[in-house]
Amino acid sequence: MSESEVLVGFGSNLGDRSRLINRALKAISRLPETSLLKLSSLYETAPVGYLEQGAFLNGIVQLKTLMSASELLACLLAIEKSLGRERIERWGPRTVDLDILFFADRIIDEVDLIVPHPEMARRLFVLEPLCEIVPDWIHPVFCETVSVLLNKHQISNPLEEPCRLVSSPLDVAHSKEKVEDGIFYRYSESG
Ligand code: ADP
Ligand code: MG
Repeated sequence: MSESEVLVGFGSNLGDRSRLINRALKAISRLPETSLLKLSSLYETAPVGYLEQGAFLNGIVQLKTLMSASELLACLLAIEKSLGRERIERWGPRTVDLDILFFADRIIDEVDLIVPHPEMARRLFVLEPLCEIVPDWIHPVFCETVSVLLNKHQISNPLEEPCRLVSSPLDVAHSKEKVEDGIFYRYSESG
């Protein structure tokens, strides 16, 4: 099987969010036949819909893997589950959400896996970090780059509250090593 470049979105709104994200990234970097390529900055987003939830920290990681999309999904769900065991409230918001946004240029429409992720083009907290690391990536369904999709989204949603950048873009450099070093601990929340 050949190597695929993949974009995985991550988010957390429960517990020590940056620490949980860091642990998820570390676990992803240790998956078999997988390595991290690039990491976006972290963005903070107010919750939409269920307003009683805490704000989300979101970002994107680009990786390459020899795994198939369904194998990768199974691994990501296992990581979510292992970190979810720390959850404080039963049935509360998830500690870490990991979504496959793009898997090479593939279009997948299976019961348990839809790629590109169907909500992506409507979510600023996905489009912003995507544009930061892969602005020219072409969405295989819309046949437009993610930067065009972000522009269109901003034009049609002028009143939407922007995501707040929490980590500086400088932190993106040498991100793989920094994930290993635990860069996100710098943003750990004291409560
Ligand atoms: P959301 O991420 O939209 O909030 P959930 O994380 O609760 O939703 O949904 C989990 C389920 O979504 C998984 O069990 C998985 O089978 C399914 N799913 C479908 N497409 C994807 C995708 N591209 N990435 C991750 N999970 C997906
Ligand atoms: Mg998910």
